[in-house]
Amino acid sequence: MNDFLAGDVWLVGAGPGDAGLLTLQAVAALGQADVVVHDALVSDEVLAYAAGAELVFLGKRGGQPSPKQPDINARLVAEARAGKRVVRLKGGDPFMFGRGAEEVLALVAAGIGFRVVPGITAGIGGLAYAGIPVTSRDVNSSVIFLTGHDARGLSPEGIDWAAVGKAAGMIVLYMAMRHMAEIAESLMAGGLAGDTPVAVVMQATTPEMRVLETTLAQASTDIEASGIGAPAIVSIGRGNLLREQMAWR
Ligand code: SAH
Repeated sequence: MNDFLAGDVWLVGAGPGDAGLLTLQAVAALGQADVVVHDALVSDEVLAYAAGAELVFLGKRGGQPSPKQPDINARLVAEARAGKRVVRLKGGDPFMFGRGAEEVLALVAAGIGFRVVPGITAGIGGLAYAGIPVTSRDVNSSVIFLTGHDARGLSPEGIDWAAVGKAAGMIVLYMAMRHMAEIAESLMAGGLAGDTPVAVVMQATTPEMRVLETTLAQASTDIEASGIGAPAIVSIGRGNLLREQMAWR
């Protein structure tokens, strides 16, 4: 474990919510940080490990416009240049649909020292808490991680859904709740069976976790009826059926 140098930024994965899923490296970083810049997906339980740091919330909250990425980058650079130990804390893993790469590139451009502390991503760890193994030898030998929402908010039009449906035995969707009806239709149009098992895991690993089991054909209707919403991971594939035996929580 390295020392956290003043003037450096550590990009730290906070995991999906349960503080027990933080890495030792993340806990050490939070304990030494002068300032922690976090997003909305980071749980209070995790923030409690940063008791000695100034907390700066830069994320989306309650329908208000989210801060622009250049503003976040500029804030990280400014805090580092002020000689602080800066943790940029992100839900899950910083490089899984978390704009971590953009932030690192901004630090590189500014000549600021940095380090990356990976975290447990919701699409693996969150599903595990729902009793869903993201791979298992008898079911699938590949898995696709996909965002239902690209940088321009243009999806799912830009994605070859027929190819996605054929490519992997398990499809794990992030940020897909808003487009679920279109996504399911596109996958079925591309040849995936309507009775393909689907699971929706909301607030995975937290005390508020909820799991909905459905099928591709029923997914959007059942999601609406259940009231389940973001943040949620959607998994599509036969591996979901193992939950019947593996749900432990
Ligand atoms: N970097 C994060 C993902 C950020 S994108 C990670 O590695 O997990 C935000 C999306 O992640 C949400 O829309 C949701 O799809 C998913 N997500 C993050 N935390 C979650 C949680 N606790 N439960 C369910 N989904 C979660």
